[in-house]
Amino acid sequence: MSTEARRPPLFHKAEAESKSFWGELKGFALKGNVVDLAVAVVIGGAFVLFLVIDKLLRARQAPAQPTTKTCPFCMETIPKAATRCRACTSEVVVEV
Ligand SMILES: [Zn+2]
Repeated sequence: MSTEARRPPLFHKAEAESKSFWGELKGFALKGNVVDLAVAVVIGGAFVLFLVIDKLLRARQAPAQPTTKTCPFCMETIPKAATRCRACTSEVVVEV
């Protein structure tokens, strides 16, 4: 039989409560650090993830497609889909 079991129930309970109080306090202080660390890790991780995704999206973006072309007859800038130049009225080839 252990000495714990032979103690009066009241004393045993009081000691247990006292232990749990300090344990709780210690746990609370420790938990505070853990929560701070977790928050820092989450924020840091989110920031790194944002940078990585931003870089990936920028890398995947195709260079901007020109929406205009130059008329071969008058060198006027005309819409890419135009079949006739608006400046010199020459027929131009539609670029695909
Ligand atoms: Zn033209």
